[in-house]
Amino acid sequence: PFVGGKSPFAPKKLAFTKYVVAVASGKGGVGKSTVSINLAIALQSIGFSVGVLDADVYGPSVPYLLALKGKPELDSSGNSSLMLPKQKYGLQVMSMGFLIPEEQQERAFVWRGPMVGSAIEQMLYKVKWSPMDCLVIDLPPGTGDAQLSISQRVRITGAVIVSTPQDIALIDAKRGVDMFRRVNVPIIGIVENMSYFICSQCGHREPIFGEGGVERTCQVLGVSMLGAIPLRTCIRETSDGGMPITKGNPASEESICFQQVAEKV
Ligand code: ADP
Repeated sequence: PFVGGKSPFAPKKLAFTKYVVAVASGKGGVGKSTVSINLAIALQSIGFSVGVLDADVYGPSVPYLLALKGKPELDSSGNSSLMLPKQKYGLQVMSMGFLIPEEQQERAFVWRGPMVGSAIEQMLYKVKWSPMDCLVIDLPPGTGDAQLSISQRVRITGAVIVSTPQDIALIDAKRGVDMFRRVNVPIIGIVENMSYFICSQCGHREPIFGEGGVERTCQVLGVSMLGAIPLRTCIRETSDGGMPITKGNPASEESICFQQVAEKV
C-alpha cells in the first residue's frame, strides 16, 4: 500500500559492507540464483571481498549451489547470540536454508511480506559478518511485498535484474525495474540469462527463447544490458555439483560471460 507513497521504514546502510547488490527477477526459474552466485565469485576474482545473503526465503538455493548445509555456528568470542556466516570459496554466506531443519526443507515455506523482512533482518543483524566490499543479495523472485519489504529496510546500492529473452519473462523484468524505481533503488542493469543454447555435441547455437529481447527492453527502459549468459549444460552441472562454473572453470567461455557482467556491475 505504501508503494510510491511514504514508507514506514527508512532503508538502513549496512555497516559491514561498502556495497549491496540485489539480484532480482520478475519470475522464478530464469537463473537468478545461478547469476547471483557466479556474480559473487566473479566479483571476488576481480579483487572484491564478497558476501552472499540468500534472501530467497521461499526456495533458498544458495546452500545447494555451494554444497553447504547444517546450522551456522554461534560466535563464541563475545556475543554468543550472533551466528557466524558460513565460508565457502572465500565467500561469507548466509541463507534461510541453514536455519530450517533438514526434515522440513521439502515443505513449502509460507511467508508473509513483513515476515520476510524480519527474517532478512535477522540474517543481516544477528550474523557476525566480517567487513566486506560487497554483499550480493539473492532476492526472492517476483515483485511482491516481500521484495519491497527488503528494499525498504536495507539501503541497496543497486539492483541487477535477471531475465531470459522471452517476452513473458521480460514483462516481469519490466515490473522489477518499475518496482525498484518506485522505491528509489538504482537499477544497475539487466542480465540476459539463457540467452542462447550451445549444443555440447556439435557447438550449434540456437536462440531458444528468442533473440535481442533483453537488449530491446533495456533500450525502452533506459537501463544497461550487463551481458548475456548462454544456456549450457556445464553451467547447470557445475551448479548442481556445488562448485559454480566461475569457481570450477574460471577460464571457460561461460565464466568469462559472468566476469564481464561483474566488471560492469
Ligand atoms: P531462479 O533462481 O531464477 O529460480 P535458478 O538459478 O535456480 O533460477 O536456475 C533454475 C535452473 O536453471 C537451475 O537448475 C539452474 O542450474 C539452471 N540454469 C540457470 N541458468 C542456466 C544457464 N545459463 N545454463 C544452464 N542451466 C541454467
